Amino acid sequence: MRFVSTRGTAPAVTLSAAIRAGAAPDGGLYLPEQRPTADIDPALPLPEFAARFLGPFFAGDPLAPDLQAICSGAFTFPLEIATLPDGRRALELFHGPTGAFKDFGARFLMECLDRLGDPAHPLTVLAATSGDTGGAVGCAAEGRSSVRAVILYPKGRVSPFQEHQLTCWNAPVRAIEVDGDFDDCQRLAKAAFADPAMTKALNLTSANSISIGRLMPQMAYVAFAATRIFAETGQNPGFVIPTGNLGHGFAAVYARAMGAPIGPIVLATNQNRTLADWAATGTYQPRASIATIANAMDVGAPSNFERLIALDPAQRDVSVELVTDEAIKARILADQADYLWCPHSAAAAEAHARLPKAQRTERPWLIAATAHPYKFADVIEPLTGKAIEAPPALAAILSRPSHKDCIAPDLSALEALLTVPA
Ligand SMILES: *Cc1c(COP(=O)(O)O)cnc(C)c1O
Repeated sequence: MRFVSTRGTAPAVTLSAAIRAGAAPDGGLYLPEQRPTADIDPALPLPEFAARFLGPFFAGDPLAPDLQAICSGAFTFPLEIATLPDGRRALELFHGPTGAFKDFGARFLMECLDRLGDPAHPLTVLAATSGDTGGAVGCAAEGRSSVRAVILYPKGRVSPFQEHQLTCWNAPVRAIEVDGDFDDCQRLAKAAFADPAMTKALNLTSANSISIGRLMPQMAYVAFAATRIFAETGQNPGFVIPTGNLGHGFAAVYARAMGAPIGPIVLATNQNRTLADWAATGTYQPRASIATIANAMDVGAPSNFERLIALDPAQRDVSVELVTDEAIKARILADQADYLWCPHSAAAAEAHARLPKAQRTERPWLIAATAHPYKFADVIEPLTGKAIEAPPALAAILSRPSHKDCIAPDLSALEALLTVPA
């Protein structure tokens, strides 16, 4: 299998090259040259299911012989489907070591990069993040020998738990607090990637959500969950997916196009209205992002949109529901006796509640629960007035010591730090 750019002007490459590169050189995003057909065995557990489902993506690639090991190393925690007292189903994606679905993508990507790198000259994943990605990437990189991780985050702009989940990982992970805001961190990362000497010296690579290495495991778990529900009910479940960069939202669309038993897909967004406007008008107009309480979805220009419109209109059929902060809060409060949603998952639960009744009852639906509510206790506790207990994985993070470096927001400071040994 070869991988081509959504913009069509970059050469086709192997999967390994697409994972190593992140974006294509023409600025587009990689997709398989031919869309594979879903190979589904409902009897398999998740790691084996994923290896079979993703087999065609790896066909002919140097990583192909390692695919089962990659899946076994990535899918080390369960995906669970919780049935609520009223019959709704929550697709719980937060049972990984950092409590959010980003663990799936980060672990799979790191399993791949660790095999593509060379211990004598490791790859460096550089990530500017304040949210779930940084913690998941740091955790997934800990203890590896051929890939290391450098996480940039803004000083004083992350919650105490967020800071802890960015700074608690051991070598080869480094957390760097930048004396600036999130835009400064992103500018710094971009400047590093644009600097040929630094890119080469550090073997820089990225872990952002456009990486095909993050997309594939998300396709696999969506297909796995759909297959379980199909086996139980004989129907293709609908999915309601809270969306920012369209990572697992696109993964669900693609898995359905491959033939996985997936019904309608509803994308739930926060007040960042780019996708809702596109769905309503057909015009895609990226905007500056605005801050909401579902902050992992504060995206004004969803990076995977380019992949979505690369599909045929019939295959990419989705609906989009915009959920305001007020509606997210109301949904958390309305459901709290039965189920405590994180703000992102609450946006999905609200979008599900707004489906016309006939549509809601004609088939099973899976509402994606993307993070454990504890991660967003600063939003939820003041609302409900009740303390949220840390689940074991997140309590374990809190008990780890934390370490960080601090730099001014300029490239020479970053370069000086990274070119000396930790
Ligand atoms: C990243 C994230 C999202 C949005 O996912 P995308 O793949 O960017 O659409 C939703 N919820 C949580 C908790 C997240 O961390």
